[in-house]
Amino acid sequence: MVIKPKVRGFICTTAHPDGCKVLVSQQIDYVKSQPHSQGPKKVLVIGASMGYGLASRITAAYSFGAATIGVIFDKPANGARTATSGWYNTAAFEQLAAEDGLYAKTINGDAYSKEIKDKTIELIKKDLGKVDMVVYSLAAPRRTMADGTVYTSVLKTVGEPYTNKTIDLKNRIVSDITVEPASDEEIRATVKVMGGEDWKDWIDALKAADAIEDNAVTVAYSYIGPDITHPMYADGSIGKAKDHLFETSKHMTEQYGVRAYISVNKALVTQSSAAIPIVPLYISILYKVMKEHNVHEGCIEQMYRLMNQKLFGESVITDSENRIRLDDLEMKDEIQSEVKKLWTEISSDNLDTHADLDGYYKDFYRLFGFEADGIDYAADTDADRAINSIIE
Ligand code: NAD
Repeated sequence: MVIKPKVRGFICTTAHPDGCKVLVSQQIDYVKSQPHSQGPKKVLVIGASMGYGLASRITAAYSFGAATIGVIFDKPANGARTATSGWYNTAAFEQLAAEDGLYAKTINGDAYSKEIKDKTIELIKKDLGKVDMVVYSLAAPRRTMADGTVYTSVLKTVGEPYTNKTIDLKNRIVSDITVEPASDEEIRATVKVMGGEDWKDWIDALKAADAIEDNAVTVAYSYIGPDITHPMYADGSIGKAKDHLFETSKHMTEQYGVRAYISVNKALVTQSSAAIPIVPLYISILYKVMKEHNVHEGCIEQMYRLMNQKLFGESVITDSENRIRLDDLEMKDEIQSEVKKLWTEISSDNLDTHADLDGYYKDFYRLFGFEADGIDYAADTDADRAINSIIE
């Protein structure tokens, strides 16, 4: 079929298999072109099909030759519907990894469930024995508990409402938005979904099954950002969940015999960040400034740097609170002072000079395999792509 983008709100309901493959192979080529340090050899990536999780999997495989098991939550093509882009990314990654002689297998299902944890552990025990690294890169809107209770995360402030600029990307209009405070129950639910409880459940389950090496490294991802985003992010409901994630890392390092870290990453266009009010406008300004200063990075450059320079270099490089900082370039004074100036001035009339909207759009479409170089998007393509090893 001929596959065109169909954008609904913050997501695109179609994905292009050939575009996804080109973009995955570009990430692989980037890692191949860089120098490598010594790193883990048996890596579990939870949330491995897109964004930071996919880039983590690619980096572990192509920097260290690691065997990777990915846990994803994606759908294959079905009749007139394309597969999700995470499905196509994973199909492409597995195929390319196999061609390069790398072990890569994938479990498809809800990572929060006991069933998927059990299946993953069974595969680890059978094929790898134990893992020496666990990447926890879930970004999910909800979590279903074993008893059927569903918790839904919200992107709201805590305490006071917050008004600031936001962008309607479709119509290119900048306007004010007021984000309302979350209720206590909404905050608790957001912590349940995006906090550290499920990360700890995974490490508990791996430990209980003797499927993780002593002293293994585990990392989960967080964001801090500048003042303008704080009420919405770091001090908002999602920030409470990220605080919990950080506390969980400390607890696991002290009690579990693993080295658990939080990596504070750069703001980037992903399926998750596109849904946060205020943040996409900030990201479009940030892209402009970071590109002008020649310090712009995508997921793969960030994850390459995380693994080769911060985590598995000569020593682990952290800030004074023991967090890894990949937002170091984003948060530089010269970057943030320019972003702040542009933020103050920006309106619907000067978007072209004050923000990199084209860069934002390109990255957004690329999440779904569109806008990749060398693809004829008018040509027929087969929407059915197999993930060779898939376990459902
Ligand atoms: P993403 O949406 O690109 O990827 C999330 C992944 O989780 C996808 O592969 C998705 O399929 C998977 N997933 C979701 N629910 C699942 C479930 N129930 N079971 C199994 N897999 C599931 O998101 P991302 O932006 O790469 O986010 C990853 C982490 O990085 C999150 O913790 C996020 O808060 C953090 N982070 C993101 C940014 C950013 O700007 N995007 C910045 C800093 C930190």
